[in-house]
Amino acid sequence: MIRRRREAYSDHDLELLVALADYASLAIERSWLLHTIVQEKHESEAVVDASASGILVVDPYGHIVNMNPALERLTGWQLPQVRGELCCDIVGCRGTGDGTHEMPIVCPLRLEYLEERAFVEYRIRTRDGRWVPVEASYGLVRDEAGDLARVVIVFRDITHQEERNRARAEFVANVSHELRTPLALIKGYATTLLSPGVHLDEDKTRRFMQNVNSAADRLSWMVDDLLCASRLDAEELHLRPQPFDLCLQARKVLAWFRPHAARRELLADLPAGGLWVLADPDRVEQVLLNLLTNATRYSGVGTHIVVQGRLLGDPPRAVVHVVDQGIGIAPEHLPRIFDRYYLTEQSRKGVGLGLYICRGLVKAMGGEIWAVSEPGQGSTFSFTLPAWDGPAGTAPS
Ligand code: ADP
Repeated sequence: MIRRRREAYSDHDLELLVALADYASLAIERSWLLHTIVQEKHESEAVVDASASGILVVDPYGHIVNMNPALERLTGWQLPQVRGELCCDIVGCRGTGDGTHEMPIVCPLRLEYLEERAFVEYRIRTRDGRWVPVEASYGLVRDEAGDLARVVIVFRDITHQEERNRARAEFVANVSHELRTPLALIKGYATTLLSPGVHLDEDKTRRFMQNVNSAADRLSWMVDDLLCASRLDAEELHLRPQPFDLCLQARKVLAWFRPHAARRELLADLPAGGLWVLADPDRVEQVLLNLLTNATRYSGVGTHIVVQGRLLGDPPRAVVHVVDQGIGIAPEHLPRIFDRYYLTEQSRKGVGLGLYICRGLVKAMGGEIWAVSEPGQGSTFSFTLPAWDGPAGTAPS
C-alpha cells in the first residue's frame, strides 16, 4: 500500500485492503479461540486431576484412553501401563460379592447402563487382585456426527459406606438377640407362675420375681443405652451437671449392681472424705453400670472387681478405676474398643455400644476415659471428671 507518488487508491486496491483486514480479524479471532480452548482444557485437566473420584475414559470398544490420579491410587495402576488396554482386562467390573465367588460381569459399556445414566454399584479389581466396591456413573462424549466417541466413567469408592451398612445390619441383629434374651426369661417365669397346676412356695415365687426384676432391669439399661447412643450421634444429649459426691454415688451403684454380679466380689476403694465432682450424676451412674457390666461379663466366678476413686492434681479432677481380674483385651483391640459397634472375637454378649456411650458421656462431662489391659490378667477402665472445689453440697453459680 506504500507508494512513492501521490495517487488515489483504485477500487481493486480497496477490495484488497478489505480482504486483508478480514483475514487479519479472522486470524485474531482464531488465536483468541485457541487461547480459550487451551485454557478450558487446562481447567478441565485440573478438575479431573484434583477429583477425589476415580475417572476412566474409554473409547466405544472399551480401550483405555485416560485415567486420573484418583483412579491410579484406587486401582494401583499407572496410566502409561494400561493405556490402550481393554478396560475389562484391567478393572473387570463385577456385580456384588466378595470376589471369592462367581460374580456377574457388569460392563459399563453395555447399552442399558449407558442409557440409564444412573448410579450403578458394583466392584472393580485392583492391580493386587482386591475387589473394591464402587458407585459408578457415566458420561457420553459424541463426535460431530453424533456417534459415540468416548465414555467417561466416574467411580466413587464406597468401601466405608459398605462397612457402615454391614455394621448397622449386624448391630440390628445383635440388638434383637440381646432384647430377646431377657424377654424370653420374663416370659418363661410369667408362664410358669400363671400355669394353673403350679403352686410355688413363697421363697420360690420371690426368687422367680427377683429374676424377672433383674431381666427387666437389663432391658431398661439396654433401652437407655440405645437412646443415649442415638442422642450422642445426633449431638442432642442434655446433661444436668451439678456438684455431688462421687464416692456416695459409686457406693449406691455398687450396692444396686451386686445382685447382677453373680458370684464375683464387688469391692470399693474410695476415700472416706468423699470426692466432689461437677457432673451429671445420672450419666455417671450409666458409665459405672456399663463398666461394671463388662467387668462382670468378662471375668470368671470368684474374681474381684474393684471400684477405686482418687483425686488428681492440676487441674483438679477425680479419677475412677474399675479393675477386674478377667480375660483382658488383646493389644490390637485396645485402641478400638471405644468405637461404635466394636466387638472383639471374645465378645460374649452385647452390641458394641457400651464403651462408645461411656466415652461420649465422659467427654461431654469434660473428662477422659481409657483402658489398660493385659490378656489373661484383667483390665482396668479409668475415667476422669472435673473436681468440684466449691463448698460441698452447693450448686455452682
Ligand atoms: P457391649 O455394649 O456390647 O458390651 P462394649 O462397647 O461395652 O460392648 O465393649 C466392646 C468390647 O470390648 C467387647 O466386645 C469386649 O470384647 C471388650 N471389653 C469391654 N470391657 C471388657 C473387659 N472388662 N474385659 C475384657 N474385654 C472387655
